[in-house]
Amino acid sequence: MMVQYHALKEQAGQCLLFYRMGDFFEMFFDDARVAAQTLDIALTTRGESGGEAIPMCGVPVHSAESYLARLIRAGHRVAIAEQVETPEQARRRGGSKALVERAIVRFVTAGTLTEDALLDSRVSNWLVALAEAAGERAWAAVDVSTGCFELGPLGDGVAAELARLSPAEVLVAEGGPMVAEVPPVLLHERPRGDFDSGRGAARLTGLYGLSTLDGLGDFTRAELAAAGALVAWLDRAGAGQLPWLQRPRRRQSGEALLIDAATRDSLEITRSANGGRAGSLLAAVDRTITGAGARQLAADLSAPLTDASMINARHDLVQWAVDQDGQRFAMRESLASLPDVGRALGRIVAGRGSPRDLGAIRDGLDGARSLRERLGRLAGLPALLIALLPAFDGHGALVDELQRALVPQPPTESASGGYIAAGYDAGLDALRETAAGGRRAIAALEAQYRDRTGIASLKIRHNAVLGYHVEVTAKHADALMTADSGFTHRQTLAGVVRFNAPDLAEEAARVVQAGAHALAAETAHLETLLAMVAARADPIAATADALARIDVATALAERAVEGGWCRPEIADEPCLHVSGGRHPVVEASLAAQGEPFVANDLALAPEDRLWLVTGPNMGGKSTFLRQNALIILLAQAGSFVPASRVRLGLVDRLFSRVGASDNLARGRSTFMVEMVETAAILSQATERSFVVLDEVGRGTSTYDGLALAWAVVEAVHEVNRSRCLFATHYHELTRLAERLDALSLHHVRAREWKGDLVLLHEVGEGPADRSYGLAVARLAGVPAPVIARAKEVLKKLEAGKAQTGGLAAGLDDLPLFASLAEAEPQETDPLREALAALDADSLTPREALEAIYRLKGLA
Ligand code: ADP
Repeated sequence: MMVQYHALKEQAGQCLLFYRMGDFFEMFFDDARVAAQTLDIALTTRGESGGEAIPMCGVPVHSAESYLARLIRAGHRVAIAEQVETPEQARRRGGSKALVERAIVRFVTAGTLTEDALLDSRVSNWLVALAEAAGERAWAAVDVSTGCFELGPLGDGVAAELARLSPAEVLVAEGGPMVAEVPPVLLHERPRGDFDSGRGAARLTGLYGLSTLDGLGDFTRAELAAAGALVAWLDRAGAGQLPWLQRPRRRQSGEALLIDAATRDSLEITRSANGGRAGSLLAAVDRTITGAGARQLAADLSAPLTDASMINARHDLVQWAVDQDGQRFAMRESLASLPDVGRALGRIVAGRGSPRDLGAIRDGLDGARSLRERLGRLAGLPALLIALLPAFDGHGALVDELQRALVPQPPTESASGGYIAAGYDAGLDALRETAAGGRRAIAALEAQYRDRTGIASLKIRHNAVLGYHVEVTAKHADALMTADSGFTHRQTLAGVVRFNAPDLAEEAARVVQAGAHALAAETAHLETLLAMVAARADPIAATADALARIDVATALAERAVEGGWCRPEIADEPCLHVSGGRHPVVEASLAAQGEPFVANDLALAPEDRLWLVTGPNMGGKSTFLRQNALIILLAQAGSFVPASRVRLGLVDRLFSRVGASDNLARGRSTFMVEMVETAAILSQATERSFVVLDEVGRGTSTYDGLALAWAVVEAVHEVNRSRCLFATHYHELTRLAERLDALSLHHVRAREWKGDLVLLHEVGEGPADRSYGLAVARLAGVPAPVIARAKEVLKKLEAGKAQTGGLAAGLDDLPLFASLAEAEPQETDPLREALAALDADSLTPREALEAIYRLKGLA
């Protein structure tokens, strides 16, 4: 057995090996130690190897799913080795001592799950592959639970793409350059050969039964390599049984609003700072009622659009749903009762479909058909909805078949039958009738036996070992032990004795045989029905997508009505006008405490595109900055927005950065991180971008920080020319207003009232009159003596400032910021001069080497 085990373990590689033994999956050696610890189950031993006891642990097969889920969540991968023949087959093959043949039938990893129990119904489960070929990089992603398959260029880098997809598992070429770019918990290195673009192309054509790739679209070699690596791993993970993959959809760069990883963290789009869904934008917006709708909304918010007509089409749909008050309610009610068609289909095509999945397809498609009828009766449907309508229908024959074939609530387990409805198959009905007749006859026998023996407590029972048998208590047993009683003894237990009888055995055989034939008939029907569904996978997926889209649109309408949100207006010029804007997450959390949220306005246009916002800590600066970024994001994702009026020129890239000290939890050199992230903005932001900078520069000393903040504002204003909101506590920056004409000053209002600080959370024009730092400190509970001492220190500092002109003294003499492109090189640069003087063509290798040393000396 150990030889077989080691051979399988070798195939399993780094995965834990679940080795099937009867009703258990067992693990041995290090696997057992790891699993026992993760699962908190007993570690025992079995046999020995090299004189040492072999550590072992096991989990029962019937509850293996929940153990698998815990191992996967803890970051492990599992290979499942099943018995692929019965013990009888093994005996017939190799005699009484023969070992049952086992094989790995599946690898279970975070990215290859399809089981409902292991998945969150409201979250997509992406398996991603990253590849490089011909100097380009690409990603491919598949959600095997729904068959969704996408790919595209890695235009914006690995981190940004992974942040958008939030994958469960990421495949990269073993030892390749991308290994270091993927977080270790997600990383799964695969053999380099899997990432060959030629083989990738062959895998795709093979998968879809095509002779060329032309029908699928135009893919780069890197995209083919990534897609090929995905298919190769899925093929291996399923031991040759591929899950269902829809035809891949190519996402162009520029198709979606670009949001880098730091911005996603900062805006808390699908996950809040503590990592959960609660407290995120998604949680504050989500009113979807189906799992598929929730997944679609998360995808929409993760990748807002940049095309005005597509955005307007989504807004039209939401507007329509807002206007249809009663209809919207009815539609949502019928959506709520629909099962998750996409995931049921995913399991069916992956060969793991159950009777319940067929029931889900039946009910989901039937629901879609009635929804379509309902919609068909309405006038004035928006274009996007009209385009979706055909997808709701066309499954009539399949639905009718499933309705006739299945019982109303089919079970998840197919092993004990009972899911095919009466009346579907006359042969099956007859077999069931025979079995039922047998069971009735057995019940009648019980009465007969009681009469015959005079034992009123005699019972006929059934168990897996003995089948049907007669059972009496021990004190009555003797009467049945006699040879002429008609009973034969089978088993004596503590309190009861069990017997058999010829007429009982005869009826029992009838029941068993009819039952086995009935089960075989049901299984054959199940196979046929599953195949019928799998054959229509693409149109069924289209229906599932259309249902999700309707759920999202009506949910956004619901959210808009509930929160008094407005439809944003899309403008051509790069502007952002917001009246009565609110932060949906902060507003919701204040509402929970019974506090009102103060709405604020914003007006950015090409001639006034950078707002510098000052004011006391806790005054509401961050909230104001972010709410405007979120309004853009929501608008471009197709949602209405938390404001009374919004006019928006579409944004190509969204950036949001928070000064370092807020991010201490990340545990990196925070100022370094702050500067790396700021550098990314300065190199990437365009005239159509929107930039939020919150206290950038505070992660270092005052002078450095002010200097950097100053230069960054100048650069964004002069070079990037993006729309920008910049919050700062460096009051000195307000001087920039005099020299930068598209920059204006704003502040969050505060008042001191009877010695207390009152934060009004209102954004007003002009700079803050003072910083209120000490008042904020008092508000925060800093003891009075410390505040009093700070006041003395402040007085001294301010007196000094009168003499020196303060922190920003002399800044007024600074020449205007020259754009980075135009920046002149230093007038005399010896290195450049020496370099220019070299005649590269006439150098011998030795002279070249000497020249390099000389130049290094000048550097
Ligand atoms: P700052 O960035 O100026 O330090 P924040 O934006 O973090 O301030 O806001 C601090 C707190 O003030 C928030 O957590 C919220 O409770 C409250 N707040 C902010 N903006 C508003 C608003 N517009 N209306 C009501 N309360 C607000």
